Amino acid sequence: MNNENCSVCGKYLIAGSIIDEKTICHECLTKEQQGLMNNLSKSEVSHVKGYFSLTEAQSKLFSTTYKKHLSAMGTKMRQRFMPEYLKEVKYDDRENTVNVYFENDWWHYTKDHTWY
Ligand SMILES: [Zn+2]
Repeated sequence: MNNENCSVCGKYLIAGSIIDEKTICHECLTKEQQGLMNNLSKSEVSHVKGYFSLTEAQSKLFSTTYKKHLSAMGTKMRQRFMPEYLKEVKYDDRENTVNVYFENDWWHYTKDHTWY
């Protein structure tokens, strides 16, 4: 494997990242992340339990934080947390967070768009 060229566009890598096994230039990584953001539409989360019970502000908090959360994951890890693996979202009155449930993991999404 040649680590000096972007695995997406093939350009020589001056500044880039290695995410899991993938070598990618910043340009392609940015594009990939923007793609993710554009792709999260209502139809993709319509199977998620509780999604339509969130207020508008809560569902915005959820989608903004979710996109940020996905972007922070490596390519390989992200595959396990794509919208189809979302099970349930629920507003947490005590913590003021939206709680997000996947198959085996869950997080609090905060109004500062962080997670824990
Ligand atoms: Zn590239």
